[in-house]
Amino acid sequence: MSERRADVIVVGGGTMGTAAGWALARRGHSVIVLEQFQHIHNFGSHSGHTRIFRHAYFEGPFYVPWTVEADAAWVALQERTGIDLMVRCGCLDLAAPGSPHAQQAARSARAYDLPHEFLSGDEVGARFPAWRLPDDWEACFDPEAGILLIEPTLRALLTEFRAAGGVLHENERALAWESTATGVTVKTASGSYGAERLIVTAGAWTSKLLADLNLPLEVCRKPVMWFNTTDRQRFSSQSFPAFIAENGVEHYYGLPAHGDDSLKIGIHSGRNLTDPDTINRNVEPEDLTADMRSFIDSCLDVAKPELTATSMCMYTMTPDEDFILDRHPMQDRVTLAAGFSGHGYKFAPVIGEHLADLATKPASLPRGEFAISRFG
Ligand SMILES: Cc1cc2nc3c(=O)[nH]c(=O)nc-3n(C[C@H](O)[C@H](O)[C@H](O)COP(=O)(O)OP(=O)(O)OC[C@H]3O[C@@H](n4cnc5c(N)ncnc54)[C@H](O)[C@@H]3O)c2cc1C
Repeated sequence: MSERRADVIVVGGGTMGTAAGWALARRGHSVIVLEQFQHIHNFGSHSGHTRIFRHAYFEGPFYVPWTVEADAAWVALQERTGIDLMVRCGCLDLAAPGSPHAQQAARSARAYDLPHEFLSGDEVGARFPAWRLPDDWEACFDPEAGILLIEPTLRALLTEFRAAGGVLHENERALAWESTATGVTVKTASGSYGAERLIVTAGAWTSKLLADLNLPLEVCRKPVMWFNTTDRQRFSSQSFPAFIAENGVEHYYGLPAHGDDSLKIGIHSGRNLTDPDTINRNVEPEDLTADMRSFIDSCLDVAKPELTATSMCMYTMTPDEDFILDRHPMQDRVTLAAGFSGHGYKFAPVIGEHLADLATKPASLPRGEFAISRFG
């Protein structure tokens, strides 16, 4: 591979770009990944140290086979690299009366005969003493779920990408791209790159690079908060599963204390629109909303949780909250992956393989649920 030519150029070396590069390089393709920041950074959608992986997928049963495939891929990556990538602490999908959330998760688990338990609020408290829920809440417990560690997972993918000959250019922003009859050209401040194919995995910046497509993407500001609890043991990954909870007002998620991190909580619902280049990256006092405070005080058995750390992140939302994984409708040398709507991380190795197929195998088709054509 010349320094400026490859089979495939990937623009955006974050979660999905690293995974796409990894899948392509391991198949023997020459790949250049261009990343505008350092490989792992806090300015996009992979900040905040940890992510939940789960299989009882309330978003829809059609995701379940990919959760299982991704789980196996993370385990295999962990075994090959010897790096600890995941903690299998389980996940609780919790629902206040009237919310279908826990039942939707259970339906997905049942559809694929996956291990899960359906619990009442009291049963959750008896099993996991940090929870103090009214008995009329419902819960679906996925015992095989857990958390993925962001830095180790992205580093492990990058290690195998480089071992297979892939090249990552950090701190190099793609300014423009064009498709020609014979390939694609990508321009950066330091010159231009050529390739047979282009994959755009630019996260919150996707609409800036693919303005012509007018994709219905909304970039949202998502503060993340860590709370110090007096009883760390009760909130550790041995006794406190990850959770997603719908309390009738918001969708909250949380992850157990792990390593240097204390209990982590964020709000999944809501669309506070922003621009990735001008976003307010400070977490403001009002980001800890009255409802979030009340959810913590009323549902968790914890005395005066103290806010100890914060971080800012972005979701890129589609109207239906399903992903976009497709070829460019007018330029078939270009493949794109975007709109992960706050739940894409767990799937990264599977999405990497799928993008490699779409980019290099003309017969490979996008999944209907993720096709651009669904927006009309
Ligand atoms: C607070 C929060 C919590 C989440 N929790 C979960 C969870 O529990 N479980 C789960 O599965 N998912 C979760 N997600 C979602 C998951 O993290 C994202 O879906 C995933 O990280 C998106 O990957 P991406 O590659 O699209 O974006 P990113 O990882 O941000 O990568 C995009 C990259 O493109 C680069 N880029 C953009 N434009 C250019 C350019 N012109 N030139 C070069 N580089 C460029 C950016 O710098 C960036 O590195 C969460 C997200 C957030 C924000």
